[in-house]
This record gives sequence, structure tokens and C-alpha cells, in this order.
Amino acid sequence: MQYPPTVHPPPHPAEPARHWRDRWPLLRGEAWVHVAPLLAVLLFVVVILAAFSYLRMEEVRREQEALKRDVEYAQQRLRLRLLERQEQVMRLARDISNREVQQPQFGSRAESLVAQYPELLSIGWIDVRRHVTALETRPSVQPQPRWMEDGQLRAEEAENGYGLARDLRQPVYVLPPTAKNAEPTLELHVPITPRGQFAGELLVEYSVDGLLRYGVPSEVLAKYAVALLDDKGHLLSGQSIPARAGLSERLPWAGNVNEFEIPVSPVGNALVLRAQAWRTSQGLVGNAIFWLVLLLSGTTVWMLVANWRQSVRRHQAQQALQAETSFRRAMENSMLTGMRALDLQGRITYVNPAFCKMTGWREEELLGQTEPFTYWPNEDHDQLAARLTEELGGAADPAGFQMRVKRRDGSVFDARLYVSPLIDATGKQAGWMASMTDITEPNRVRRQLSASYERFTTVLEALDASVSVAPLGSKELLFANKLYRQWFGATTEGHLKLVLRGGTANTSALVSDESLDAVDSFVGLPLDNLATTPLAEHAEIYLEQLGKWMEVRSRYLNWVDGRLAQMVIATDITARHQAEEQAAAQAERAQNASRLITMGEMASSVAHELNQPLTAITNYCTGMISRIRGGQISQDELLGALDKTARQAQRAGQVVQHIRSFVKRSEPRRQWSDVGPIVDQVVERAELDLRRRQVRLVHHVAPSLPAMFVDPILIEQVLMNLIKNAGDAIDGADRPPDERVVDLGVSQRDIEGVAAVQFCVTDAGPGLSTEAIERLYEAFFSTKSEGMGIGLNLCRSIVESHQGRIRAENLYNAGRVVGCRFTFWIPVGPPHSTQSADDAGQHVKAMA
Ligand code: ADP
Repeated sequence: MQYPPTVHPPPHPAEPARHWRDRWPLLRGEAWVHVAPLLAVLLFVVVILAAFSYLRMEEVRREQEALKRDVEYAQQRLRLRLLERQEQVMRLARDISNREVQQPQFGSRAESLVAQYPELLSIGWIDVRRHVTALETRPSVQPQPRWMEDGQLRAEEAENGYGLARDLRQPVYVLPPTAKNAEPTLELHVPITPRGQFAGELLVEYSVDGLLRYGVPSEVLAKYAVALLDDKGHLLSGQSIPARAGLSERLPWAGNVNEFEIPVSPVGNALVLRAQAWRTSQGLVGNAIFWLVLLLSGTTVWMLVANWRQSVRRHQAQQALQAETSFRRAMENSMLTGMRALDLQGRITYVNPAFCKMTGWREEELLGQTEPFTYWPNEDHDQLAARLTEELGGAADPAGFQMRVKRRDGSVFDARLYVSPLIDATGKQAGWMASMTDITEPNRVRRQLSASYERFTTVLEALDASVSVAPLGSKELLFANKLYRQWFGATTEGHLKLVLRGGTANTSALVSDESLDAVDSFVGLPLDNLATTPLAEHAEIYLEQLGKWMEVRSRYLNWVDGRLAQMVIATDITARHQAEEQAAAQAERAQNASRLITMGEMASSVAHELNQPLTAITNYCTGMISRIRGGQISQDELLGALDKTARQAQRAGQVVQHIRSFVKRSEPRRQWSDVGPIVDQVVERAELDLRRRQVRLVHHVAPSLPAMFVDPILIEQVLMNLIKNAGDAIDGADRPPDERVVDLGVSQRDIEGVAAVQFCVTDAGPGLSTEAIERLYEAFFSTKSEGMGIGLNLCRSIVESHQGRIRAENLYNAGRVVGCRFTFWIPVGPPHSTQSADDAGQHVKAMA
């Protein structure tokens, strides 16, 4: 059967030093099977070696004996030859003594001797005075023998052989020292003793080479390296083989077995015959059989060892295979997925225990089954048979299919079957493998999940607000409820519009930035409480596309796949908005009316008061003009009329003065006031108006600000006016949602050693034109259609009446005006004079 890819059993946690038995597992049980042949071969080699050694020793001994025998034989022959010559020379000496031989006879006898025996070099007859009486030499030798000098025996010769022969009256052999490059010789001194008197001698000179060549039998010479040595072992003649160091030549118990020495008898120890055996047999080293045996034994040992190692490897492989098989078997048995194999004809060839457990049928019941299988529910037979045909045809869906399986007890469960081809070791398809999982539980869970999903969507779909979720920086719509789809369709366009217009986050920048560069698009987003902020900001926007006012709320959340997403909930507030707008318009109208009434009242009272003196001045002037033209007026009369005119003008000034003192009447209310409540009051009131304009008010008040001695109502008026102007400016500049912000900051300041509180109102409007900067505080200067132009004028009066200062400046970014800031500060302590503050207070109250 086909197994899944190899899974090796986990390695042992730690490998302790392994015993040799572990490394050579075969030594444990079947060791002798392998060791015995090895030992037998080794024993065989030892026996062969012993036999060879014994035979060799025997051979050496025999050779040695033959050598000894041959040498002794040669010595015998040499001795006999020497003795024969000695006999002949002695006979000649005797004949000389008996005077049977005279010089001429000596000559012929010596000549025949020399001619007959090639080892003889010369024979000389020497008298008592050591004169050479007669001499016979071999023709090849130089005319004068070595021992002769000036017809006399040389002195050294006289010392040795001659002296000895004279003294001993016996033949004497002498080995004279050999001169360099000269042929070694042997001398025989035979005394001539007529009647016991020494009368000279016969000196026979042998060639040592000749002795060797003719005295030693030729078969001995052929067999050995034969040599004649002197008493000190120096080679005189013959051949010498250098001593050999091999074991076979020099056995420890037998000395040098290849040579034998023996003194040559009549000469004595002075002349030694030595024979050295040639290397006739090659000994152990050259013995082909020995090497063959050794080679065969070596090969056998090598083969045995190789065989052994092979067995060890096979054994290890077997063990690994066994372990692998048991591991796979264990895996198969512990698997929870049912496995079933079919052959190409659709017959079950394998089922694993999990399959049996799932279906309740035993393995032997299932094996060999063909369609319809016993685990098919009866009612599904047709459908499953069609499926099987598909399966066997190789058309099975790789994603698996769901089927119902009947257990042995008749109960039925849902299963999912995945079919794949079963490829055998040769790479051919042997059948089909199917894995089966019980999906009853997953099915139940899925049903539950879909039910709960349905409940959830029903609620969301029924909401009267549109809900949409989209990931940041992507155009994918993750979720949209029914109302959203109704309003905006199934695209993210509506979502993005709501986000953009709602100005809840800088999402517009995110979307466009992403396409421009690879900068992290979430830069600037809140990190920690991103997804945990329960209620995100909300805004009211008007959507022309739908003709509706929307309240948009949004919050960040972690989507199910971990992505950061934004959820937008938009509620239709058109009805509420219209009601609010109506109310605001009514309030505005009422305010305008009251403002007009106040202005009208003031204007009529001023007009009324000023009317009398101005009419009088006009009358005086008209009268004077007509009378001057008619020439009816004297200088005094003219002066009188001008005096009256001036008095009327003074009266008009008094009227104005009077009105001022009239409006100044109510008392200002300066008191120690905290900054916090003033700011809170202003923020609360201003936000109402700003929200309508979709402008956010951000305020920050520095901690621990000192209390101020001011009229809080007037300071509130100033702040309200500045914030209202800022809102107007932003609205007028048509800023995008994220820039529609007014910033109010309150901090402490030190002005020339006097503690003061500074208020800053910053907006992102169009800024102040040059004309506006010049005429800002002028009464009735306004650029707005409905503006009165007295707000800033009043503000300055109020601030200055509190010993403070007000300042306006434009804000720039890269040379471009991005808004303006109004700053004023009020000293903390009570003012030295409260006059002007009171003035301003009256002024403001009158104007408001
Ligand atoms: P009004 O608001 O009734 O016009 P103000 O005295 O308050 O009267 O303002 C005078 C003028 O100063 C305004 O009409 C406007 O042109 C200019 N102004 C005041 N505040 C700002 C501002 N924050 N940004 C731009 N211009 C301003």
C-alpha cells in the first residue's frame, strides 16, 4: 500500500556513548557464524606458515650438509695434489743430495714438472749461500720470479721459508705477503740435506689461483663460490659472495648456513678453503605456492570481513525498516481519519482501524468488498454508485465530497471523503486512496453559526442607520448593511465619502498617499486605543447625492483577519437638522431685530438731542450767508452770529458728553475670577454655533493659572467675539473637514515683571488683508455682508480697560497665509484705575 511521505520517528533525546555490541549488533547472537570462518582461515595460515618454515629448515640443513661434504672433498683433492707435488719435489731434492741430479738434469726434470702441473709457477734450486743455482719458470711468468733478486733469494724469503726449512730440515709451506696487484703465491721450501747437512733448498712457487683452479674439482667449483683465504680471512683467490642477512641464510641456531671453511692440510691454517653456496633456491620469498596460499587466505579473510560488514549493514537496515514500519503502523492505528484503498476494479484492499471504528464494520468484513459497500445507506446507493464510477474514472473532486455513511448498527453520519490516486513503488497507479472524516460535529457547528449569523444580519439590516466597514487604505468593502447598500450601492465609495466628509480621520490622505509612495499610511493614527475607543468622533454632514443631513460616527476596529478597519455608522438627521436650522434662523432674526431696536433707540435719542443745536447752527449759518451776500451785515453782527453758532456747537458736544455719561451709568462688576469657568462658559456657548458650521473647537488651559480681578462677563464677550470671527473666517474660506478647527489656548505670561494671563484664538481661515490689519479696530469696519464692524473695537476697549493689550497676526506656511491668531493678555492683579474698564463695560452693554 501507499504510505504518506516519510515521517521519521523522533530521535532519541540523548545518545550516550555506545557499546561496541551496539555498533556491531551481529556480534551479539550470531557472532560465531562470522568469527569461526575467520578463525579457521587464520589457523590455516598459521599451519601453512609452520609447515613452510619446517620444510625450509630441513632444506637448509640438507644444503648445509652437502656443502660441508663437497668442501671436505675438495680439500681432500687439493691436499692430495699438494702432497703429490711435495713428494715429487722431495724426490728431486733427494736426488740432488745424492748427486744423482746435476744442474742439467734438474733443468729437464723441473721443466717437465712445470709443464705438467699448471699451478706451478717456478722451481728454483738455491744453495747454502742463497744463490740461485738453477731456475725453471713457467713461460707465462716474468723471467725472474718474485722471490729472486740479483740471482739471489730475497732477504725476506731467506728469513721465512728458507730459514725454517734450514732449521727444521723439513719441507715448509709459506704464504708470502702479496704485493699490490701481484698474483698471490704459495711457496714450498724443501731442504736439500745430503748426509744430514743443509745444502740449500728447492723453492717451488705455486700460483694460488692455479691451485684453486686445478686442485679443486670442477663440479665443486661449478656448484659453489669457492675461494682460498689466508689465515686472516683475506681473499687470495676465487669468488666471494657478500654475507646475506636474510633469515633463511642466517638461522640463529646455525650461524651462517651458506658457507663452509676448512684449512688446506699440508699448508696448515695459513691457507683456508672456503665454499659459499650460490643462492640456489629463492627461499620463502620466492616461493610461489606460499604467496599464492597467503594471497588466497588474505582474499578469503577480506571476503569474510566484507561479508560480515554487509550483514551488519543489512541488519541495521532491517532494524530501521522495522522501526519505520512499526512507527507507521502506530501512526496509522492512532490516526482519527479513516483510510480506505480501492484497487483499480473498485475492490476494497485496505482499511485502517479508524475507518473500521467509524463505520463499525470489522476489517475482514470490509476487505474484498465491491460496490455496493455495506456502509452505503440503502437510499443513497444510486447516487454513491455514480460517485464511485466517477472516482474510479479519476474525475473525483480534489476538494472532496460529502456523503452519508451507514454504521453497522444502522445509524447514519455525515462524512467527507477525499480521493487521490494510489501510486505503488514502481510509479504505477495501483488503485485509489480515500480518506474519510466524520463531519457531523462541524456540520452542527456550521448550522449554529449560520443561524447566529442570520440573527446578527437581521438586526443589522433592520437598523435605520447605514453601517459599513472597510479596511484602511483599501477600496474593499468588508461589511455593509441593507441601508448602506440602498443609499450607496455595494461599493466603498459611499463609505469613503462619509469618512472624508465626516473628517473623523485623515483617511483621504491615507488613500491618496498610498498610491504616491510607500510611506506607512498609518502614520499619525492613534496606536494604543485605536480599536478600543468605544465612541469615536462624530460629525454632521450634508450629502448632496442623497439630499440628506447625516450624523456620521466612526470607530477603528480590528477586522476578523487582523486588519485595521474603520466602521462608519451614518444616521439620517435631516429632520432634526431642519428643525435646528429653523430655530437658529428665528434666533438670528430676533437678535437682529433687538440689535436694530437698540441701535434705532440710540440713534433716535442721539438725533433728537443733536437736532436742536444742529438746526440752530444751520439757521445761523444760512442767515449769515444771505446777509453777507446782501451786504447787510456789520462786523459786530457777524461776530455775534458766529459766537452764537459756536455756542450751539458746544451744546452739541455737551449732548454727546451727556449721552456718554448717560450710558455709563450702570456699575461694572469687577471681581476675582478663575480662568477655568470663564473658558468653560465660552466653550459651551461657542460650540453650539461652531457645530452648525462643522467647525471643531479645541481648547487647552494651562494648569494652576492664577485668579484674575476682572469682569468675567466682559472677558467672555471678548473671547466669544474672537471665536465667532474665527468660525466665520473658516467658513468663509471653505476649508476641508480636518482643517475646520479653532484653537483656544490659555497660559500664564510675564509682562515686564507683571504676571498676566494670555488668551490665544487661532483659526485656519484666509487671514487678514492689509486693509483689515490697518482698520481692524475701527468702529463699523466690516467685510461681512451682515457685519456691524464694532466687535473688535469693543474687544480692544475691554482689554485695554483691564490694562491689557490685544494683537492680531497672520500665520504663514511656506509663504502662504494659513490662518490668523488673535492674542490678548490681562494682568492678574487689580488695576490702578478702573475708570476705563468701567467705560468699556458700559459701552459693551449698550452695544450688545
Ligand atoms: P464684524 O465681525 O461684525 O465684521 P469685527 O469688528 O468683529 O466686526 O471684525 C471686523 C473685521 O475684521 C471683519 O469684518 C473681518 O473682515 C476682520 N476679521 C476679524 N476677525 C478675523 C479673522 N479671524 N479672520 C479674518 N478676518 C477677520
